[in-house]
Amino acid sequence: MSLAYLQCVEESCRKRQELGPGPESHACAWCGGLLEVNYNFQSFDPEELRRLWRQRRQGDGPRDRSGVWRFRELLPFVEPETCVISLSEGSTPLTDVPRTGQWAGGVRLWVKQQGANPTGSFKDLGMTTCITWAAMHNVHVVACASTGNTSSSLAAYAARAGMEALVVVPHGRISTAKLAQALDFGALAVEVGDTFDQAFRLLCEVAPELGLYLTNSINPFRIEGQKTIVPELLEQREWRIPDYIAVPGGNLGNASAIGKGLRELKALGLIEKVPRLVVVQAAGANPFYRMLASGSAKLDPMANPDTEATAIRIGAPANWGKARAVLEWTKGLCESVTDEEIFQAKTALAQEGVGCEPASAAAVAGVRKLCQAGKIEPGADVVAVLTGNQLKDPDYVLRHRSEAGADRRQLRVEPTREALRAALGGALAAEAKVK
Ligand SMILES: *Cc1c(COP(=O)(O)O)cnc(C)c1O
Ligand SMILES: [Zn+2]
Repeated sequence: MSLAYLQCVEESCRKRQELGPGPESHACAWCGGLLEVNYNFQSFDPEELRRLWRQRRQGDGPRDRSGVWRFRELLPFVEPETCVISLSEGSTPLTDVPRTGQWAGGVRLWVKQQGANPTGSFKDLGMTTCITWAAMHNVHVVACASTGNTSSSLAAYAARAGMEALVVVPHGRISTAKLAQALDFGALAVEVGDTFDQAFRLLCEVAPELGLYLTNSINPFRIEGQKTIVPELLEQREWRIPDYIAVPGGNLGNASAIGKGLRELKALGLIEKVPRLVVVQAAGANPFYRMLASGSAKLDPMANPDTEATAIRIGAPANWGKARAVLEWTKGLCESVTDEEIFQAKTALAQEGVGCEPASAAAVAGVRKLCQAGKIEPGADVVAVLTGNQLKDPDYVLRHRSEAGADRRQLRVEPTREALRAALGGALAAEAKVK
């Protein structure tokens, strides 16, 4: 266990502390900064490690079946034989979307479909590591504030581990599908406040006295699982490094995790160069974009973040410092896109048979905007992370494809053959027209 330690992420501090006997690990004991889990990695033969990881894909054990724990050499905060809390997360498809790439500006575009995870979002990657850590420390009650997907994921992994889960969400501002998942997995769901930020703040205030173990992305063990998307997608590309990896940015945990994954793979000699990270925020919830655009030293939180992409409707992202460091290190880019641009990107993907939730489409919308601005070059090799599943937000789709929507393709017909034939005759595209 001495391989792993906690380290403050603040540049001015960077103090290390031992992993304590308890599970708590959220703040630096000296300056209160966020912590990350770091390691004194042993040295590996990169070729050997790649071979081992690939070979495990054929394995049957719970750790080999997991697209997170398959990379366990990168997660040595657990002993090799620890029993992990897993739902066979990860191992999601990496799919080429040439038409969407053309639409976005002539890039070679691939999408990493994180919506194929057990509860339908990338949050599962981090939840398996975080709940495994909690289980190692006999935690009984876990809690999070959430824009939706963290609560679905926490509820599932807590159920798997036999823990009680509390999820705190903004009132009426998360998709019903996500709330339904949390309830289905037996979590206690509390709706409080209008924004994620408010719900999170309140939860933090009561957590210590109630003995709740917090699993928000300030929890460094979540970042550990989330970083494994990097070796997974590189392996799927036979270790060819893309020019860009694009992600939507809410609390900026995912951007931080991808940066950490790249950093460690480079330190271990598995990759030589790094892709440029592209973080895309929704225009109504873009404090990180604003900070970078204005050259400001600190993030100025937005009190009333607003976007239909509810998964990234966050005004005070906790991980902005880490994410900024990743953008500096990878010569990355940050973009801000309107809800209309998000909808267009989501439509382009859907027309190619790829579904995702609105927040995920922001990544592709951002790539397009950066192409238009000449900041991403035509022909660039781009991987966009589609963070959540299409079915996470059916209300969004129905709203946009409602009767008001010009391209709505839904009819209601009297139950007679004549009526059906007449309706279809006018509705199908010319080539396919019913005779
Ligand atoms: C959580 C989430 C995000 C935002 O990720 P952060 O790590 O908070 O930046 C984006 N999309 C979906 C679908 C999410 O669930
Ligand atoms: Zn510190």
